[in-house]
Amino acid sequence: MSARARAELPAAERLRITEIFHSLQGEAASVGHPTVFVRLTGCPLRCHYCDTEYAFYGGGWRTVDEVLSQVASYGARFVCVTGGEPLAQPNCAQLLARLCDAGYRVSLETSGAMDIRGLDPRVERVMDWKTPGSGEASRNLLSNLTVLTAQDQIKLVLCDRADYEWAKYALIEHGLAERCEVLFSPSHGQLDARELAEWILADRLPVRFQIQLHKYLWGNERGR
Ligand code: SF4
Repeated sequence: MSARARAELPAAERLRITEIFHSLQGEAASVGHPTVFVRLTGCPLRCHYCDTEYAFYGGGWRTVDEVLSQVASYGARFVCVTGGEPLAQPNCAQLLARLCDAGYRVSLETSGAMDIRGLDPRVERVMDWKTPGSGEASRNLLSNLTVLTAQDQIKLVLCDRADYEWAKYALIEHGLAERCEVLFSPSHGQLDARELAEWILADRLPVRFQIQLHKYLWGNERGR
């Protein structure tokens, strides 16, 4: 199909896709599993530490059927829909449901700034809770917290000690650890991973420490 024909696809059928690739899941509950990543184009946020700025613009229109067909070609059991901010495209919900129907274990990486209600309940939501160090903490949607279940995860990327103290307060203020698993992760190249690990242990926090596995294996290489 030509680029022009793709751009003329009915709005109800199309998604703007930056890339689809096969790699190891680098974070969250399914870390280490071979996974197909579907990266949707566009994000309304501008986090200081963003490592996927190339997904803000560009990409190409694809139908949901085309995405499913490429995903199937890798033969993986896990699929992660990511961005950008995937929920910025209304057809993302349809894609998630179709992937679940096809039998994949599906996760969604979302910024926490978009409403997560109404998504297929089989989808594992990995939702950011933006800290002041990201520059986007004011975008956190409080209403999302009430929707999370035990199969979801809240991820806080911490830039410095001030972020860590803020995150500790957020744990208590919003009862985060009672809602689902809470992930604390150092902003790569900004906060020393070992330092964060020691803070968590010293404070006996009920959180799961994680580093981004793919960054240690492949650095910032795109499509990894
Ligand atoms: S929400 Fe994610 S993709 Fe969007 S700017 Fe922040 S880190 Fe980048």
